[in-house]
Amino acid sequence: MGKILAVTNQKGGVGKTTTVVNLAASLTVLGQKVLLVDLDPQGNATTGSGLDKNLLKNTVYQVLTQEQSIDSAIHRSPTAGYDVLPANRALAGAEIELVDVENREFRLKNSLANVSSNYDIVLIDCPPALNLLTLNGLTATWRLIIPMQCEYYALEGLTDLLQTIRRVRSHLNPGIAIEGLLRTMLDPRSALAQQVSAQLERHFAGKIYRTAIPRNVRLAEAPSHGKPAIHYDPASKGAIAYLELAKEIMERFDGSVSRETTSLR
Ligand code: ADP
Ligand code: MG
Repeated sequence: MGKILAVTNQKGGVGKTTTVVNLAASLTVLGQKVLLVDLDPQGNATTGSGLDKNLLKNTVYQVLTQEQSIDSAIHRSPTAGYDVLPANRALAGAEIELVDVENREFRLKNSLANVSSNYDIVLIDCPPALNLLTLNGLTATWRLIIPMQCEYYALEGLTDLLQTIRRVRSHLNPGIAIEGLLRTMLDPRSALAQQVSAQLERHFAGKIYRTAIPRNVRLAEAPSHGKPAIHYDPASKGAIAYLELAKEIMERFDGSVSRETTSLR
């Protein structure tokens, strides 16, 4: 059964989409079978994976509204080799169309159940809002990756997010947990970034990824070439950081597997 990880933070511009695309590509390079689910009507993860979102007939929208099976909406990234359940502007309509539907928060979870065993890891890119689409992502997921910029307001936003997670846990997904907090767009020379890093360490000991993603222009350029950074400029600091992150995540999984096995003895 694939491990499902939603990348979420209701704040926009913190690096969610960049993380999903580059993590999907890095995990694929490391031999993992990956499905990327784009839940943002902006479709940036779709475009960044080399797919033309405006040409796609079957997307996550048709899956959520049950017009199409999930199989018929999964496409292969031509530039990075992982599978994509893509999104485009049509997805913005899902919120309204599902408003009277029962169990509307469970649509993605139920569809993913048909395919997740084909993958080692499923990564979900959530939109920057707490709407029905995000709730579908949070209901479907096993754990969360939370990207954040180490700036003054980051911690404030985090309090809201933790409240959301508690609510989702009590109503929609009792098992949901934070897999890790990821520091993005880090400028290691910034004193503020170091202070925020230290504060995060105090609040979320053990949850902060050792790997931080530096601010790197290659990560911002790569999407316009329809490629994750590891295929656009593999030697760039950004590409290397996301590859390190992918290794760290896989190591954590191996560790948790052996811990679980040990506790069974
Ligand atoms: P979100 O999905 O959270 O809204 P994005 O991943 O789209 O955030 O990132 C917002 C903007 O910042 C994009 O233009 C992206 O290319 C850029 N960006 C993201 N991470 C980095 C980074 N580490 N270095 C430089 N630019 C980045
Ligand atoms: Mg995004």
